[in-house]
Amino acid sequence: DRERRLLMQLATFGRDQRLLITRDVTQLERLETTRRDFVANVSHELRTPLTVLVGFLETLRDMPADALSAEQRTHYMTLMYDQGQVMQALVADLLTLSTLESAPSQEGQAIRCDSLLATPRQQVESLSAGKHVFSWHIDPDLQIRGSETELASAVSNLLTNAVRYTPEGGTISVTFEATPDGGARYVVTDTGIGIAAHHIDRLTERFYRVDRSRSRAAGGTGLGLAITKHIAMRHDAELEITSVLGQGSTFALVFPPERVGEKNPHPAKS
Ligand code: ADP
Repeated sequence: DRERRLLMQLATFGRDQRLLITRDVTQLERLETTRRDFVANVSHELRTPLTVLVGFLETLRDMPADALSAEQRTHYMTLMYDQGQVMQALVADLLTLSTLESAPSQEGQAIRCDSLLATPRQQVESLSAGKHVFSWHIDPDLQIRGSETELASAVSNLLTNAVRYTPEGGTISVTFEATPDGGARYVVTDTGIGIAAHHIDRLTERFYRVDRSRSRAAGGTGLGLAITKHIAMRHDAELEITSVLGQGSTFALVFPPERVGEKNPHPAKS
């Protein structure tokens, strides 16, 4: 009887081990597939601008020196410069992602939301070049605890996308306010092209784009929302996306109370 019990125990143990090993292998295989897809994607993303750049350089190299007017020369230089910038943006975003993945997240310090948004606001208004109407409602007393560089990059990614995917004449409203539970919400709403429901869950995947050529033309790398989502996670925040195709989108970062600084802090007693 004891022998039978022992045998049964052994059999169960064996099965459990097998289950564990199978799970480990599946996970390894999944990681390996993700890694392979990522390398393939990066290579593909770099190859396109490189092909254009090398093509232009070859053409220019093989032309007689006086074959182009000054304007034509500037035109080709600008085209090549743009391709260089595409690659620069891609490499910058890849470096950001890899830093986010390797560096441990830190407590950080309390940052005032209005100062956090000062530079992104200037940048996005200059990117829009007067083509959009902006409305800003940022609580000047609100503070978020975290990494200033990361948070600035997250808030700025959502603003840049709003401009990229909103045609001329559209409105972009930005709010950063406390929520009733003591948390905070940063919300960017646009009246742009919107996103069909079936894309929404996939937007934070690396290189996922609804319309690749539109994103490229607008200077997108396809990594902005992957980066933003990562930064949100490192700050215990949620990235919420709602959108109606043809009407516009809302992207929100929702911070829990633990991340929100005291409003109107009392001056320290001396
Ligand atoms: P990209 O560099 O292509 O903008 P992101 O990761 O920032 O990459 O965004 C992924 C995709 O999500 C974009 O290519 C676009 O299709 C869609 N998207 C992001 N923001 C918006 C928005 N505000 N309105 C419509 N589509 C958007």
